[in-house]
Parts: sequence; C-alpha cells; structure tokens
Amino acid sequence: MTPEIIARLFPNPLPSVAEIEAKYPPRRLPEGAKATRIAPSPTGLFHIGNLYAALVAERAAHQSGGIFYIRVEDTDQKRAVDGALKVVCDALAHYGMRADEGVDADGKDYGPYAPYTQSQRRDIYQAYVKSLVEKGLAYPCFCSAEDLDMMRKVQEKNAQRPGYYGKYAKCRGLTDAEILAKLDAGAQPIIRFKSSGDPDRRMVVKDLFKGELNLPENDIDQVILKSDGLPSYHFAHVVDDHLMGTTHVTRADEWLSSVTTHIQMFVAMGWKPPKYGHIAPLQKLDNGNRRKLSKRHDPEANIMYFAERGYPRDAVVEYLLNLINAQFEDWRKANPDTPAFDFPLNMGKMSNVAGALFDFVKLNSISREIVARLTAGQVYDETLAWARQYAPDFARRMADNRRYLIDILDIERHIGAKSRKDLAKWEDVPPEVSYFFDDLFTMTHNEKMTMLAPMDEADVMAVARDFAAAYDPADDKDAWFDKVRRIAGAHGFAADMKAYKASPAAFKGSVADAAKILRVLVTGSDKSPDLHAVMRVLGREAVVRRLNG
Ligand code: GLU
Repeated sequence: MTPEIIARLFPNPLPSVAEIEAKYPPRRLPEGAKATRIAPSPTGLFHIGNLYAALVAERAAHQSGGIFYIRVEDTDQKRAVDGALKVVCDALAHYGMRADEGVDADGKDYGPYAPYTQSQRRDIYQAYVKSLVEKGLAYPCFCSAEDLDMMRKVQEKNAQRPGYYGKYAKCRGLTDAEILAKLDAGAQPIIRFKSSGDPDRRMVVKDLFKGELNLPENDIDQVILKSDGLPSYHFAHVVDDHLMGTTHVTRADEWLSSVTTHIQMFVAMGWKPPKYGHIAPLQKLDNGNRRKLSKRHDPEANIMYFAERGYPRDAVVEYLLNLINAQFEDWRKANPDTPAFDFPLNMGKMSNVAGALFDFVKLNSISREIVARLTAGQVYDETLAWARQYAPDFARRMADNRRYLIDILDIERHIGAKSRKDLAKWEDVPPEVSYFFDDLFTMTHNEKMTMLAPMDEADVMAVARDFAAAYDPADDKDAWFDKVRRIAGAHGFAADMKAYKASPAAFKGSVADAAKILRVLVTGSDKSPDLHAVMRVLGREAVVRRLNG
C-alpha cells in the first residue's frame, strides 16, 4: 500500500511502534510468576461466572508471586453503562481480590501500563494497525452493512461457513487505485486483518484447562479497527496482553472459537502469545436438565444476589474454590481454620472443565459450616451490616437489642461439631430469632394446638401449667430435664414403652412429646435450638406467660 494511502487512512499523528514499546517495556516477573487480568466490559452486570473466572486469575497470579490487574474493555461503546466499573471494583474488593494495577472505581489508573481503559488507548491500537497495513498484513474494507448482509445470505443459501474470507473477502484484493478512488469518493473504511490461515490445516492449541485442542486454522479477515476508530476485542486484547505482559489469559468459553485468530494475530505482530485457558459457563439444573446460568432468567447469575441474600463472602469464595478445584474439600477438612485464600489452587487440575454446576445445596452447606464457626458477636455484626442495607426494620431492632440478640445467637454455638447450623446467610437470622420478640411471635393458640395434634388440649395445657410453675432459670440442663421428665410422667407421658404396655389407655405420649409441648408453646416451632438455653435467654416471665397462654 502506498504511503499516500496509509496517510489517508491514518490522518492523525500517531506514536511510532518503537515509541510505544519503549514506553511500556516488558514486564519483569520472578521466575514462574504469572501476570493475569480481569478484563470486564462495562455492562453493569457482574455475573457469578465473572467472579469464578476472576478468582482463577487472581489466585494464579498471587499464588505465584505475580501480578493481577484489571483492564476495562469498553471498545463497544454502545454497551457501556455508567457506574459499571464501580460494580466490578466493589465486587473484587468485597470478595477479597486485590488488583495490583488497573483502574479504580472512579476510573483512575494505577500501575505502569496505564491507561488501563481501552477507549483511552486509541492511538496505541491505531499505531499498531497502521504498522500492519504498512506490512501488508491488514487492509481497508469498504463493504457496507448491506454488502455484508448480502454476503451472509449467499453463504446461508450455499450452506457455507459465514464470515469474510476467501472469495467473500471482497476488499482484500482491491488495488491501490481502487482504494484511492473509494477514499476520494469519501468512503469511510474499516480495517481488516489479512488472515494467512487455511481451514483445511489444523492448529494445535494447548488450553490451560481443556488440554490440547486441535482446531482448524482461521481464514476469516476479522475487523481490527472499527469505523469509530476503536479496535475490535480481537485486536485490542492482543495489543494489550502483549504490552501489559499478560502471561496467562483466563476467559470465558465464548472466546474459544476465536483463539486461533488471536494466536495468528500475535504471530503476525511478531509477539509471543500468552497461554490461554477457557472457562465453560456455569450451569444449573432445570427440571433435571443442565443448562447455562442465564443472566436474564436466574437471579443468582448476578453476584448482587448473594449480597442481597446475605451470604457471607467467605462462603461464596469457598464454594467457588470448591467448584474450581474439587481437591478444595479435602484441603478444607485438613485445614479447618486456614483462610480459604491459602488454598493452593491448581490451574492444571481444574474440575468441571465442561461446565460447573452451580448448586445451592452445596453453597448453603459450606455457608452453614462457616457461620457455625463465627462468634455470636461476629454473626451479630455481619447480620446488622446486611440488615442496614436490606432489612432496615430488623436493623433497628438489632441495634436496640444488641445484648439480647447476641445472647440469642450464642445459643448452641462453640460446641464443636454440634454447633448450630441453622444459619446459611444473614437473611436467615430474622425468621430464626423472631419468636424471641413478643410482637413478632404471633402464632395463635389454635395453630399451636394443630402443631401438637393429636395430643389432647387438656393434657397439653396441664403439662405446660405445671412446668411453668416449676420453671427456674437457674436450673442447669440436667435439673431442667428432670423437671420435664417428672411433670411428663405425672400427666401420663412416659419415658419408655413399659408404661405404655402396663396401661395403654393411660399413655398420652413419650417424654419427647411432652418436651414438644413446651417447645411449641414457647417458640412456635417443633425444631428450635436447645430449649433449655432458649428459655434462659427468653427469661422466666416470657416463658411462664407463653406456657400459661
Ligand atoms: N471483555 C471481554 C469480556 O468481557 C473479556 C475477555 C477476556 O478476558 O479476554 O468478555
């Protein structure tokens, strides 16, 4: 292409490639250290799959003594949403992932390869695109949207692969004179990469997670510079991952089909490609069938869901680590008190390479274990922080009753494996503690009797009344239970089957049934935590009132 055409294609002054390379020298990393990145497009949604991928990248970098950075990929300006960067930065911070370089929530750069926002790197990309045009490895394309539409239709009709390749790559063969004529006529070209690939040849790509893949070479002449002067993702990430010294690109599966194009571009630029690892989308079970977690249909696809429900951040991180490496579970058993981030994540041993199943049963069980290990004060603080944002009425109640709430949350805590496991998330706290508050304990007498059916109401009330009269909060658990047993026996509730056999007609039920009477009348439920402790926290006055009520 003549210098005149090149000057017409790139009329603005651009830095030279040598200047750019001098400004951004290669990254110096210790032996074996990895440089990874999260490269969000600012669409305003942070998908749980993005968090999964970010965790892989962050752990890979920081566990190898390397660098994890954040780069904003906003070259598709139509999709950019205000405030989207804050969503990403907040999510990373919330889940304990520290970026060493990149942009902060206000869009401010930090780090030696700034700017880290693609729309601010226009000149850099254009300089490299220009160098490719100069070398004859890229060319201007004047095809209109209608031309491309027509091309697609013809390809469809002929049952051919879609895309700008071979005989369909009309502008590939334009002569200098033809290009000049079009420019003179005022046509605005885009720039396409001139692919050297042949789809009949295969390329071996070693994916970090999927292993060796044998893929057809790419022969599509991808757009590298769009009409708005910004590059396509394909080209932008090649330039950036080169200049920013990324060693390992971990990204979503949707890019797997273009990895051969990307490697081709690296080679054309004379650069060493990074190692690529492609992560399959998270899935969920829907009527017994696996399907992709969808941001449109599944609220849990958006990570905000987990904050709203009040999942402890450690639970989400542990759950994801568990999905990434199945060995996490054994590691956790062997290291119950070690922070999850100390788990040595192994990129070479990714589990669920074909797509991990997002499963709330497992998440909740991990979360229950985590909450069970916290002190009542910690549960209080975390729940209050959650409630302030998502349940303000309950937050007020918590603030007004701090000591009482901590006593409630302390029931059945710190007793090892038997610690209470009823709380998976802060959202579970209000319903679990509501019966401790008279104004929230609204169960009617009839509802309680229904729960106690088929026991006779007179028997129920007799047991309750006698226990109320005998109840002494100073009793330890043994003395408390002796009273339950004694009063139960006096009313025909017996400890064993001997009593039943001796006089079946007089047998009202077991001691457990008698305890159930007390539990239902005091808590409104037949499965509360340790009733002796519940009564103590509730206080004698409330216990007696509820039993006599
Ligand atoms: N901006 C791309 C996306 O959001 C990132 C892909 C990559 O990590 O290279 O899908």
